[in-house]
Amino acid sequence: VFGERVTAARTAMAALDVDVLLLSVGPDLPYLSGYTAKATERLTMLVLPAEGDATLVVPRLEAPRVRERPDVFGMAVWDETDDPIELVGRLTGSPATAAIGDTTWARFLVDLLAELPKTRFRRASEVMAPLRALKDPGEITSLRSAAAGADRVAARLQAGEVPLVGRTEAEVAADVEHLLVDEGHTRAEFAIVAAGEHAASPHHEPSNRVIRAGEVVLFDFGGAWVDDDELHYFSDTTRCVWTGGSDPPSDFRDLYAVLEHAQAEGVDAATVGTPAEDVDGVVRRIITEAGYGPHFVHRTGHGIGLEVHEDPYLVGGNCDALAPGNTFSVEPGIYIEGRWGARIEDIVAASDAGPDPLNRSDHALAIVDA
Ligand code: ZN
Ligand code: ZN
Ligand code: ZN
Repeated sequence: VFGERVTAARTAMAALDVDVLLLSVGPDLPYLSGYTAKATERLTMLVLPAEGDATLVVPRLEAPRVRERPDVFGMAVWDETDDPIELVGRLTGSPATAAIGDTTWARFLVDLLAELPKTRFRRASEVMAPLRALKDPGEITSLRSAAAGADRVAARLQAGEVPLVGRTEAEVAADVEHLLVDEGHTRAEFAIVAAGEHAASPHHEPSNRVIRAGEVVLFDFGGAWVDDDELHYFSDTTRCVWTGGSDPPSDFRDLYAVLEHAQAEGVDAATVGTPAEDVDGVVRRIITEAGYGPHFVHRTGHGIGLEVHEDPYLVGGNCDALAPGNTFSVEPGIYIEGRWGARIEDIVAASDAGPDPLNRSDHALAIVDA
């Protein structure tokens, strides 16, 4: 699979007139080589020329971690007294155009700009993002397994297995992170637990706020799922519960019903060939027509794979048509500042057979006695 991906990257490089691809920390490198670089002051960099052999520049003490794939790349190991920037410069020659990984540390790019003064640099995402957005069946399987693991966590929260009332958001978030590992993830990546008025803050940081009976608790969580090549694919799902065992007030039920309808219509709209922004449009129209338009303050979704957020983005202005193998969230929210909020999030795979939701846990607002 790595050899095929390198070939696809070279085709994309040719189309963009990129002479060399330079990949360091971030998911582009493991996507092409199976190797994940450490984010440290010691440079690791795959030098992939449009023609000729690829070379992984790697510090001596990291070299034992590299699973060698001679059909994909050779290795250039540097010692503590070597200059890896000079080494990369020598391997690239003096290319007209280099595409460098978006999350490469700025210090290395600054040094490479000096080492290669005639080279024009562009973002490697121009080459890589469109490739990575089209998942192959193995990648979809990993994302499906991750989503199923996250769904089992959601089901346990909805069943009231995790005590909520009287505990802090931060304590409950730690429980959610444990559950993600219990349910098969290698590690938790994030766990938002937002109670009551905090649920109006979409990216709330779990705090020492104590959860009370009779309020909403929003859970948005995900973790890394490791495949056979040790690549990390992510889960990401959001569900809400109502604490205290009794029904929420009617204005919250109304809000939630609009949200549930909008989210389901968004999933249904995510068919192959539909412009990404149209999915956002469908969801936003329903929420706006119900009077909550100004309270839906973010895009409808993001792609997911080796990163929690990647292409394609379901946002106004993105006219790219959804393609088979795109995987992305559909996650509208309605946020009433100072009061409450709710969001429902599923990961969906676009396929010729129609939108395939990878998350299947109950979308209804669970009333929990926990
Ligand atoms: Zn988010
Ligand atoms: Zn999320
Ligand atoms: Zn998300």
